[in-house]
Amino acid sequence: MKRDYSDKLWQEASQLFPGGVNSPVRAFRGVGGTPFFTQRASGAKLWDVDGNEYIDYVGTWGPAILGHAHPKVVRAVQEAAREGTSFGTPNPREIRLAQLVVEAYPSIEKLRFVNSGTEATMSAIRLARGFTKRDKIVKFDGCYHGHADSLLVKAGSGGATFDVPDSAGVPADFARNTLTLTLNDVAGLQRVKWDEIACVIIEPVPGNMGLIPLTPEFLQALRQVTRDSGALLILDEVMCGFRVAKGGAQELYRLKADLTTLGKIIGGGLPVGAFGGRAEIMDCLAPTGPVYQAGTLSGNPLAMAAGIATLEELFKPGNYHKLDVLTTQLCDGLRGAAAMANVPVYQTRIGSKFCTFFTDQPVVDYASAKRSDTKRYGKFFHAMLERGVYLAPSQFEVGFMSLAHTSEDIEKTIHAASEAFKQL
Ligand SMILES: *Cc1c(COP(=O)(O)O)cnc(C)c1O
Repeated sequence: MKRDYSDKLWQEASQLFPGGVNSPVRAFRGVGGTPFFTQRASGAKLWDVDGNEYIDYVGTWGPAILGHAHPKVVRAVQEAAREGTSFGTPNPREIRLAQLVVEAYPSIEKLRFVNSGTEATMSAIRLARGFTKRDKIVKFDGCYHGHADSLLVKAGSGGATFDVPDSAGVPADFARNTLTLTLNDVAGLQRVKWDEIACVIIEPVPGNMGLIPLTPEFLQALRQVTRDSGALLILDEVMCGFRVAKGGAQELYRLKADLTTLGKIIGGGLPVGAFGGRAEIMDCLAPTGPVYQAGTLSGNPLAMAAGIATLEELFKPGNYHKLDVLTTQLCDGLRGAAAMANVPVYQTRIGSKFCTFFTDQPVVDYASAKRSDTKRYGKFFHAMLERGVYLAPSQFEVGFMSLAHTSEDIEKTIHAASEAFKQL
């Protein structure tokens, strides 16, 4: 596969952007090599600037659940653009998108639109602190909630320790208010003084250390301790919202969050995030309440139009079932191909999210995810890319199926995988 033009652009990008990119994982550090530059995308396919075609399982990191450049989404954005790209006043499209969100999420009575998932989680945490008048928050080892200061914190060893920042530039004082716990550890929840905690934030379908299913018992226990102590439960559904079911993880696990954060699919490929929940909590936001939050481009008409078109199409009957069937077909095929080649893998799937861990041990938390053979994953990734299949460029990211993928795409992918596994 020739990538001359991508290589030339990479030289230029490396002069202009730190690490050549505007978001770190795009740089392929997790798998080695350098990234291709995408010229265009349509349906389940990407074409790079050298004209190579790839079946895409990254889906712009989750938003492209209909496939790329869906005609209805493109048309909606074009129509909106003709009417003006931003007004800085309320616009009718905000209401339509909000109604679609509220219809899917019974726990959301009121919401606010923002411009990214990071903004949604950052604002939800400020709101939780303002509402409860408490400072400390709880998160889980390996869960990613965007790059806000108090969320860039990882776990220390074992139990509950107030932690150190994950990134330079985050004051240790911020991190000291963030407590980190281990996923799926019900007993660990007892070690926290919950009446000091403003909120706990969790990915109910963790997808930022590969895909790790949580047990329903664990999620119920978390709901119970937070309800009993007045700490708010923030379910970060930026990735799994509208992805694992119409009502996201809350539908799947029959859970009700106090606050929910959304992003990715809700913007149909344009920059959108949202957070919402009980009206009593949401009304603490400015202008009705004392918690400040604002955005020049929030509720942007183009972004709202893309979100509306995406959700209206996605909510048509049968689509989630179709995604399930396609993803099951792929995961069964990958597992079979790995077994044929004697490559130990641990395959996870929830709805249309999937992950192939290169380990023979079950993956139940961040520590077990990190036991995966990342070098081997890198080799597999490149062997697949050479065969025209674009998987996530890191062992610790998930794959996303779209409604544009066909059984034929999946057959091709499994065929490529059986060759790639043998090559390892
Ligand atoms: C992607 C992601 C975010 C951050 O969203 P951005 O739009 O990248 O800021 C937050 N939480 C989860 C669970 C995510 O997957």
